[in-house]
Amino acid sequence: MLVQSTRSAYETDDLGAVLEGLAPDGGLFVEKELGSRPFDWKGCLPCAPLTRAEKILGYLLPGFENMGELVRLAYAGRFETDELTPLVPVGQDYVLELFRGPTSAFKDVALSMLPRLISAGRRQKALPGETVILTATSGDTGKAALEGFHDVEGTRIFVFYPAGGVSEIQQLQMTTQPGSNVRVCAVRGNFDDCQTRVKRAFAALRENEALRERGFSFSSANSINIGRLAPQVIYYFSAYARLTELGRIRVGDPVDFTVPTGNFGDILAGWMAKRLGLPVGRLICASNANRVLTDFFETGVYDKRRDFYKTASPSMDILVSSNLERMLFYVSGGDTELVRRCMKELEEQGRYRFPEDLMEKLRQSFAAGCCTEAETKETIGRIWRARGYLCDTHTAVAFRVAEELRWEAPMVVLSTASPYKFPAAVLDALGEAVPEDAFRQMEKLEALTGVPAPKGLRELKGKPVRFRDEIGPEELTAYVTETLLA
Ligand SMILES: *Cc1c(COP(=O)(O)O)cnc(C)c1O
Repeated sequence: MLVQSTRSAYETDDLGAVLEGLAPDGGLFVEKELGSRPFDWKGCLPCAPLTRAEKILGYLLPGFENMGELVRLAYAGRFETDELTPLVPVGQDYVLELFRGPTSAFKDVALSMLPRLISAGRRQKALPGETVILTATSGDTGKAALEGFHDVEGTRIFVFYPAGGVSEIQQLQMTTQPGSNVRVCAVRGNFDDCQTRVKRAFAALRENEALRERGFSFSSANSINIGRLAPQVIYYFSAYARLTELGRIRVGDPVDFTVPTGNFGDILAGWMAKRLGLPVGRLICASNANRVLTDFFETGVYDKRRDFYKTASPSMDILVSSNLERMLFYVSGGDTELVRRCMKELEEQGRYRFPEDLMEKLRQSFAAGCCTEAETKETIGRIWRARGYLCDTHTAVAFRVAEELRWEAPMVVLSTASPYKFPAAVLDALGEAVPEDAFRQMEKLEALTGVPAPKGLRELKGKPVRFRDEIGPEELTAYVTETLLA
């Protein structure tokens, strides 16, 4: 299947897109005619979860052989439930729990699959050597990527996190990671320093003669890769299928989804599901105090020149939502000229204005809302007391916005993290004193609510730490080079 760049006519196939990550012109890979090939969306509703996943991924990434086997390797027995992403009724709404994977983060859904795709793509293209994944993380992505890539044939992974810049639990999750092809290293500096250095390292490493001779190629596990986006389409179908099973809707009825949004990948997958035929009503884009997307949907102006707030929902603290670029491409009917101009203005002037007629078209599928820190906290406490449902800070943002914008169709709120990943913020929201130690926080939350903490997080206590390296940002390229050539 052919995919192209959002910024030019550059084309490759689906395997190439997964292996390359980003187009050479800086654009993202998209299938222009997405949804124009026939897809039996009704037929995949009654299927078992893994079969449904195979059908959807087989459609979105048809170039990959043995998709059924890849799906089984990625998901079978690795999530807490066979459903993978259970749907839980909460009051009149439904919460779609995306955090039941091996690292208790929603990133697991995509990062369980991406390594299998990269490995299979390498085999099919008979690439020599190894693909080296470099990832900068502010916490969640690093662990989910490590868990996905560890011991996957033909791959190695390096994860860099800001020293002192991730939670104690997150750090332990990464530094205790088993696997013969993984490396974890702290970088003195903040997340932006990590990210900037990793981006720069790609160019230097690709030009390194010794590394090229040894057959190393480099790629990234971040959310612009089409192989990370496609697996996220699956759970929109499973939520819909579950609502029909429950008798809440009949096949064909619309369902609204509210999505706690950062890089716009999760919600874009919902729009892709709609394009494949699923009766998605409105997709509601929920933001925290960093409300750049709410403003964009309201005014048609995307403006990143604003204060950056560090909130209790850190995975949504983003001012440049990369995947929105794909949506601009689709809604403009593939106008690469327009997309390139907008992205250039964003880079050079910090803002762009999207044409009003196209904004109107976008608003037919999307609505947007945001909530403050105080409202997030209030929501966690209220949902627990009134409904007996314990949610994390990201989910609380979405829940709040869903309550405001709820209308006629059933509402599904996407839940992206376990409350036990943010036990301090959740305890505080419940009006409780917060113990210093992270494990004590988890234990207290568990005792208070009776909601069991995920096994993977509880068992971190006492696990041996494998990685203690710490480097300055300027040493990052040399660190990777020396490790690979050792
Ligand atoms: C990554 C993440 C998000 C944001 O998802 P996007 O696809 O980047 O919009 C929301 N919540 C949590 C917990 C996340 O890890």
